[in-house]
Amino acid sequence: MPRAITLRDARVLSRIIAFSIEKKAFSRSELAEALDLSRSALDIKLDLLLRFKLLTQGKLLDSTGGRAPREVRFNQNAGYVLVIELGATGGLIGIADLAGNVLTSSNVKLDISEGPQKVLGALHSVIDKTISKLDSTLWGIGIGLPGPVEYASGMLIAPPIMPGWDRFPVREYLEKKYKVPVWVDNEVNLMALGESRAGAGREMHSIVYIKIGTGIGGGLVYQGQLLHGESGSAGDIGHLKAKSESTIVCRCGKRGCLEALAGAPAILREALRIAKNGESKYLSAALKSKRDVDIELLTQAILAGDPKSIQIANEAGGLIGSAIAQILFLFNPSKVVIGGRVSALGNELLSSIRRTVYDEASALSTRNLSIEISNISDDVGIKGAGYLVLEELIKPERLLLWLKSGSPFGKPELSAVKTEL
Ligand SMILES: [Zn+2]
Repeated sequence: MPRAITLRDARVLSRIIAFSIEKKAFSRSELAEALDLSRSALDIKLDLLLRFKLLTQGKLLDSTGGRAPREVRFNQNAGYVLVIELGATGGLIGIADLAGNVLTSSNVKLDISEGPQKVLGALHSVIDKTISKLDSTLWGIGIGLPGPVEYASGMLIAPPIMPGWDRFPVREYLEKKYKVPVWVDNEVNLMALGESRAGAGREMHSIVYIKIGTGIGGGLVYQGQLLHGESGSAGDIGHLKAKSESTIVCRCGKRGCLEALAGAPAILREALRIAKNGESKYLSAALKSKRDVDIELLTQAILAGDPKSIQIANEAGGLIGSAIAQILFLFNPSKVVIGGRVSALGNELLSSIRRTVYDEASALSTRNLSIEISNISDDVGIKGAGYLVLEELIKPERLLLWLKSGSPFGKPELSAVKTEL
């Protein structure tokens, strides 16, 4: 009978798993060197992970004298994560493997304002269908929601567009139903994590991700870790005051918030105004031929060089750039990534964001900074959900509690375990 696994063992095991996820395949000596461990100490740990099928043996490697070593691989199919992202009117439900690859996903229509029982209840059949296709066990669930989430409890706190969701125990609800640990986060935080692991933030230590859609939100990744702050609201920049003299009331109830002035509804309201009064010939013509004045049309008008449409993108970019400049004073990232559907406005938006940031932020904070539009697909949020769950599950304090059963399935209580980081 092997001895019990201690927390000290779990710390090393956790580092080995993280290393193997990153490298995918490696030799034992490569691992020993990276983790600064003796080969004998490492072999015991590796054998344990091989026994629990988290690692597998790969092909034979070239010999450097003596018996040829065998490559070790991370078994990314040892389990799966159910990943969910819900927006105001639609959602995405998918399955990610343990390397963060989204294997399948499907869109669902919903109305988030109908409240948690109705919205989550309607998802069960899609979730059950998605899970039934799995050839291995479900390890956990990650879900992103369009409101402020108290990360420790997995509850939304006073979300502006989600009546009925305030303090609804989303985590507990899903854990009871699916018998796996669940992590709930703000959707933009998950996008920031997805971008940091799989997109423009790769290899970057600290990034800011800004989503510009109906709302505006931000997520911060500091030295590779998603920054939640004391209660989970770090990076929620949509309600920074952008214009103190503004009389436009935000959906949060305050006046002059960034998202009320530079989010999609504000941009499209202005576009519709200049389409109706003829200030923009391009938009007026489109409106007359019964086209919807949406972000796609505005993007086309900008590409066609319509000066008034370009001005709209520039003004929104200026407000967003000002907010980013303020973030840079507090948080000194190497990259700012812009996503969300408004980012389709492209270079006119981006160049005015850049101009404002370089104008208003300090020279030191912008010296090595790059600002760019996200180029990974729409599933960046659910990708982030997959990484989040996996990274929470392999924290040593949790790993200790599930490794011997080979899977976290059936242990929803793992989400409540206190961890160091
Ligand atoms: Zn607001």
